[in-house]
Amino acid sequence: MHVYVHIPFCRRKCIYCDFFSVGERLADWPGLVDSLLREARIRADSFGSHTPGVPSSLYIGGGTPSLMPVEEFLRLSAGLSELFPDGPGEFTVEVNPDDVSEDKVAAWCAAGVNRVSMGVQSLMDSELKAICRRHTAGDAVEAYGLLRRSFRNISLDLIFGLPGQTPDSLRHTVDGFLDMAPEHISAYSLMYEELTALTRMRDRGTIDETAEADSVEMFAMVSDMFAGAGYEQYEISNYAREGFRSLHNSSYWKGLPYIGLGPGAHSYDGLRTRRENLPDLAAWRGGDETDFPFSEETLTDDELREEYIMTRLRTREGIPLDEFGRRFGSVESDRLLRKAGRFMEGAIRRNPQPSLTLCDDGKFLSLTRAGIMVSDEVISSLF
Ligand code: SF4
Repeated sequence: MHVYVHIPFCRRKCIYCDFFSVGERLADWPGLVDSLLREARIRADSFGSHTPGVPSSLYIGGGTPSLMPVEEFLRLSAGLSELFPDGPGEFTVEVNPDDVSEDKVAAWCAAGVNRVSMGVQSLMDSELKAICRRHTAGDAVEAYGLLRRSFRNISLDLIFGLPGQTPDSLRHTVDGFLDMAPEHISAYSLMYEELTALTRMRDRGTIDETAEADSVEMFAMVSDMFAGAGYEQYEISNYAREGFRSLHNSSYWKGLPYIGLGPGAHSYDGLRTRRENLPDLAAWRGGDETDFPFSEETLTDDELREEYIMTRLRTREGIPLDEFGRRFGSVESDRLLRKAGRFMEGAIRRNPQPSLTLCDDGKFLSLTRAGIMVSDEVISSLF
């Protein structure tokens, strides 16, 4: 069983962020934990409970879970542990650098957390300030040192394509990440999501969006530097030391079932039903002993196939062709390979290098390095 818990409070909004969160001043922590535990009991009944021996994960994300008072964090994790009779194999908490303190680290350890994911994003103060992050580069390095004393599995987040970022400043950040030597790194290109302050600023002309070509160059630099330091790029945006792939995130890419708790959290039954809890704190808190409000979507055959192609191709292994054939039939299998043919030969004018390849004696269809650089275009051409 894979469980995601959404903590919907942030001290202040980062300008690029479109995750559901509200101001910390609205935080009723005991009330939030009561509601989350009530929802966990309801959802565990409808999605089934953990099967001993099967890999499981618990991910407390947000929002900003590291704002949670320690006593409420301990109460939440103790309550959630009932979902995992033999403990979650991987128990991650997301943290912001300026919340990390000795007390909180001790509480996370006591709660059974065995993986910490810290949103560092950049090691340049000017870039952090430009996107309204609360911390400085110095805070991040200091917090990492504190976490390192207690955790042997740390993931750091990085964003490239930030306003004002240059190849040199990005190199400085990547070098700093390599000096810290985390087990896992997530590196994403800055996205201009609808209704964010960042997008409004770009539209008003107060900041410049990084040009597509520069962004691709930055992606190539990040990927080369992490690969050169021995990290495996096991998903387009994720890098891990051997044995430290994220079990929880991998469940999304493998189409496994997961339960999302909290306002705005998503769930999937592993077949074709997705749910989204209402991204509205008051409405979600209105949940009672029988249910919490959500919207539900049933994926069509076409949507299932497209999602399968999209998520699997983002991974290093790619699409397992036997499984694809079993799930979607030989007609779709043949169609996929026919469309992939142009990309395997590099027959696309804009990108003449092969973007797709067959690996492991034709058992998997996966992106080549050239393909990773233009993955959106390749993937959507296979639908
Ligand atoms: S701290 Fe995280 S969740 Fe909160 S606004 Fe910033 S990026 Fe979004």
